[in-house]
Amino acid sequence: MATWQQRFPGVAEADWRDWRWQQRHALRSAEALSRVVELTAEERAGIAATADVFRLGVTPYYASLMDPHHPFCPVRMQAIPLPGEAVSGPGELRDPLGEDRNRPVRALVHKYPDRALLLVTDTCPVYCRHCTRRRITGGTEDAFDRGAIEEALDYLRRRPEVRDVIVSGGDPLVLADDRLAWVLEGVRAIPHVQILRLATRGPVTCPMRVDAALARLLRSVKPLFVVTHFNHAKECTGEAQAACELLVDHGVPVENQTVLLRRVNSSARAIADLNHRLLSWRVRPYYLHQGDLAQGTGHLRTPLSAGVAILEQLRGHTSGLAIPHLAVDLPGGGGKVTLQPDYVLSRDPGGTWFRGFRGGRYHVPEPPEAGIDCPYDEVFYPGG
Ligand SMILES: *Cc1c(COP(=O)(O)O)cnc(C)c1O
Ligand code: SF4
Repeated sequence: MATWQQRFPGVAEADWRDWRWQQRHALRSAEALSRVVELTAEERAGIAATADVFRLGVTPYYASLMDPHHPFCPVRMQAIPLPGEAVSGPGELRDPLGEDRNRPVRALVHKYPDRALLLVTDTCPVYCRHCTRRRITGGTEDAFDRGAIEEALDYLRRRPEVRDVIVSGGDPLVLADDRLAWVLEGVRAIPHVQILRLATRGPVTCPMRVDAALARLLRSVKPLFVVTHFNHAKECTGEAQAACELLVDHGVPVENQTVLLRRVNSSARAIADLNHRLLSWRVRPYYLHQGDLAQGTGHLRTPLSAGVAILEQLRGHTSGLAIPHLAVDLPGGGGKVTLQPDYVLSRDPGGTWFRGFRGGRYHVPEPPEAGIDCPYDEVFYPGG
């Protein structure tokens, strides 16, 4: 018998595999969660303290991955609130990334010159306790209805500089295929939009959502990249693998963004194991995010040095393909910047001294000539 059948006795397999059943039966209370895990007093206190702070919701599928006995289970820690979540710490913000000041219309964040982020829903199959966009996924704004999305599409049509559109939310995969097709085809019809991305945690939180019909839809608006959000190897189930491989087999590339979470995945071993598994499914680690300064997430954030130390333990020691960019999204709207271990020991006029990944001192001399203009650019890019 599969673990889920022991945890959810009496549920028919056809229901379990139905993503709508999963969403309708999300666990939304201490009482519902206590049927699956032995809730600690702290978790019960967290659920009570955050009742008016941020939504609680966990698909039965994601709940079935929880360790029923260990409160530090990475799936539990991502889905069950702790009392710290009701506390807004120093420097934490309602809008940590300064998105609202870069929202020319309600359903669109346009912060970078050539990229824009479209908000298509405020709901998710699972509400992550570290969610950075909780002011939206908390459900305190109006819904993103057809009118709001039409307005965003109109804005995009008038902005020829936008060549990359990220369809996000909330989780866009809570939408049915016809609604999603309307959004994606609407964006695809804008001639200057070169690439689309679909930012979704669906493969992690409700992998049954990803079926052949969805994969065909995503392929039909190519080039579209799915960007998903696995944080721990415990999430790497057969169902999640099938979802990711179905997308890749349909020619839809899948990238992963991990949020670095204190005591959830804050070790080189956890990140390396996760990324090795994802790569074996042809899912490429893209970003490792330092936790944003969202209200109530202080207990889940790591010191900035932790991410750098993890990268240092990966670089050289494992496949470069398994090493993501460590991103810090600057509070207030400065955008993402990246951090990496510093391998430069010193510079001199003749070159640069480095340390290698195993230590030692290595000198890289400067070339004889410093000019770097590309004369053929004028031929290949006539008129500038
Ligand atoms: C992260 C982000 C993007 C995309 O950034 P990339 O570095 O291109 O992945 C675009 N818009 C917003 C608002 C973002 O937060
Ligand atoms: S799936 Fe994404 S948007 Fe939804 S709660 Fe989790 S982090 Fe937030």
